[in-house]
Amino acid sequence: MVGVETAKPVLWELSPGDWEKWMHQMEEPSYRAQQVWQWLWHRGVASPQLMTDLPVSLRRKLEESFDHSEPTLLHMSESRDGTRKLLWLMPKGGQVETVWIPHSQRYTVCVSSQVGCSLNCRFCATGQLGLERQLTGYEIFLQVYAVKYRLGLPVTHVVFMGMGEPLLNYTSLIEAIEGLTTRLGMSARRLTVSTVGIPKGIRRLADRKEPFELAFSLHSAIPHKRQMLIPLAAHIPLEEIREALVTYCQKRMEWVTLEYVLLKGVNDGREDAQALRRFVAPPLRAKVNLIEYNPVPGLSFEPSPRMEAFREELLREGLIATIRRSRGADISAGCGQLARHIR
Ligand code: SAH
Repeated sequence: MVGVETAKPVLWELSPGDWEKWMHQMEEPSYRAQQVWQWLWHRGVASPQLMTDLPVSLRRKLEESFDHSEPTLLHMSESRDGTRKLLWLMPKGGQVETVWIPHSQRYTVCVSSQVGCSLNCRFCATGQLGLERQLTGYEIFLQVYAVKYRLGLPVTHVVFMGMGEPLLNYTSLIEAIEGLTTRLGMSARRLTVSTVGIPKGIRRLADRKEPFELAFSLHSAIPHKRQMLIPLAAHIPLEEIREALVTYCQKRMEWVTLEYVLLKGVNDGREDAQALRRFVAPPLRAKVNLIEYNPVPGLSFEPSPRMEAFREELLREGLIATIRRSRGADISAGCGQLARHIR
């Protein structure tokens, strides 16, 4: 059609089968498909010009046929603890942040699943941005690819805890998990999906076979308090989320993690610990991860000084509870601080 530019297929999205089909159409031997795959996913080379064991004519055809654009790094800041925060311009537009967190032998990439976020959780900086758009699956896993191959940093774990709510972008989440496992060769056990609690999405995850981990952002087991912190909670009864989590544990024979940001004077008292204990009763199998609050400018919440004491209370109640210390807070790279303000 005159005047209408049709978008080229995206190189990152092709499966091994798609590559074989394409090579066949181009009258190329099928082993070329594996060669491209090797370049892309094992060597981190995406520019056809650089795929030096392919004939020049094929490189040209690849270049003409596919879009292989990558996120552009706009800014990188490094924390005193080694954590790095990366600000990307995505190929399809929109800016998102990714955080790389080194911790002894563990190197975790925290990816964004949406540009902005629609949830508006009261204690989170990302919520103030609103939702700009969904990320595609490959835009999610390219964040990890870029950390690994463009910045040359090691990656052992990926958490879906950056900007956005992964279960409100379900198809892309699954595509990203697929990409990380089948293309980047990561074990799904090293991937953690974190959700505000979307029952339908949790049930869908329950039927998946990949052994990823699930974390649920509970923050309070007392419904009216949770609603005060998370506006969406007013529309989804906590009991319904709990039932979905139980289904998840039963179908997958797994535990879930309950994330709990400890806020001074808000959710760190005795009644809060007791409500948590009731929430965790069987058949739910859950461990609690207490998260240190990262202050957000303009918000009045404060980190609780009762971290250890609250944990002790939970342990006395028979719960399993761990503490997640804040990382990268000096560069606003901590949980809930991703708001694209450059520091
Ligand atoms: N939408 C997903 C992932 C987002 S963020 C979810 O809700 O789980 C990952 C975690 O960081 C969530 O548990 C979120 O509630 C928490 N978080 C948000 N703001 C925070 C802050 N300022 N300090 C510490 N944790 C925060």
